[in-house]
Amino acid sequence: MIIYKFGGVSVKDAEAIKNISKIIGEVNEPLTVVVSAIDNSTNLLEEIIDAHYSEKANVKLLLEDLKQKHLTLILDLFDKFPKNLLTKIQNLFSEMEARVVKPFSQSFNYEYDQMIAYGELLSTTIVSAYFNHIGQKNMWVDIRTCLDADDKYRDANIIWDSSEEKAKNIFKPDANHLFITQGFIASDSKGNACSLGREGSDYTAAILAYLLDAEKMIIWKDVLGVLNADPDYFSNTTKLDLIPYHEAIELSYYGASVIHPKTIKPLQAKEIPLWVKSFIKPKEEGTLITKGDLPQPLLPNFIVKKQQVLISIKSHNFSFIGENDLFFVFSLINKYGVKLNFTQNTAVSFVFCVNHSFRFIEGLIDDLKLKYDVEREDGLELITVRHYSPDTLAEITENHQILIEQKNKNTAIFLSQGTQEIPLEDCCCLQEKRQ
Ligand code: ASP
Ligand code: MG
Repeated sequence: MIIYKFGGVSVKDAEAIKNISKIIGEVNEPLTVVVSAIDNSTNLLEEIIDAHYSEKANVKLLLEDLKQKHLTLILDLFDKFPKNLLTKIQNLFSEMEARVVKPFSQSFNYEYDQMIAYGELLSTTIVSAYFNHIGQKNMWVDIRTCLDADDKYRDANIIWDSSEEKAKNIFKPDANHLFITQGFIASDSKGNACSLGREGSDYTAAILAYLLDAEKMIIWKDVLGVLNADPDYFSNTTKLDLIPYHEAIELSYYGASVIHPKTIKPLQAKEIPLWVKSFIKPKEEGTLITKGDLPQPLLPNFIVKKQQVLISIKSHNFSFIGENDLFFVFSLINKYGVKLNFTQNTAVSFVFCVNHSFRFIEGLIDDLKLKYDVEREDGLELITVRHYSPDTLAEITENHQILIEQKNKNTAIFLSQGTQEIPLEDCCCLQEKRQ
């Protein structure tokens, strides 16, 4: 079995979907294709969820936008509405409409996951119908019937044993050669939808690769592979031909946007090679992520996370921040499901960074204020340099207003005032190469 993953951009319009069908047409082995929601529709669904939650009147209009977007895509692909497909799409929208007229009955995260799942259900229903229409016979799989997870909504954990049994039964290579399924979603023990975190479709593909003992996995992108530099800022960039698993885990941990952080582990566990390749130039080699050592000489890689919020806590009377305090702070961090991008503690303070988009910042700060003096600073950047050299570090410190610096043998992290541009000459953000 081979696993392909196509993101939202690769299904953004009829041309893009036709292009995927060509790429798939080249494969003569059993193939499972994991597809994301069409471009930007997960963001639109988030707007719908927010509008529903805050009881805004525009929720129906937003839903209508989403519907039009999908109907236009169908018309562009088929020239007229195929009856079966139209019925399926109308049913999905009826289910969504029924949800937005009722107030939230459970937690925000639960309601979020019930709604967010429709993005992938819609896209895969359309893609599968189109492939069947042009003779690429395939089986559409509702991944919620295969992947079991817990009820940690918006960041659910896969239950591997039961999922494995189901996956092996559903994705049977002798029964079918082409499977189309959704990324990003699974189901809890009661059959409710749960999601694996934004951009989680890469992870779904890796889960399936693991469960089905796939021979390889390819993530198809609008970029040539993984680069050591951000081509938006620099003309001289190098594509990384090979990245060892352990390095890819480090890079995604520090925030490289190339691959969802959880993707590598299941692949590494069974030594399944991962390729990042371009759907625009599918014949080009791309980047291979596999076992092995880092190719020498080491290139400095820069990962920049923008829009960081620094939260600093101090005890009211300047007493030490001890283990009890850290326990209290981390309990809150856990309660709010905060993703920490950076932490540092000194004798009398503890500081940490979160993404600006994290929606519970206010609540977290209010809770912290019950015990501590809390300060918040917005608009910061975290710059991580893997495999730094004295020169590269000197350039960063010269060109940025550094607030905090942390270093270990391989990695240096700088928290800096935000800049519009990153004025580094020979090194830059680790990113994907745009074409
Ligand atoms: N559609 C989801 C998102 O945009 C999952 C994914 O694309 O990987 O976050
Ligand atoms: Mg996406």
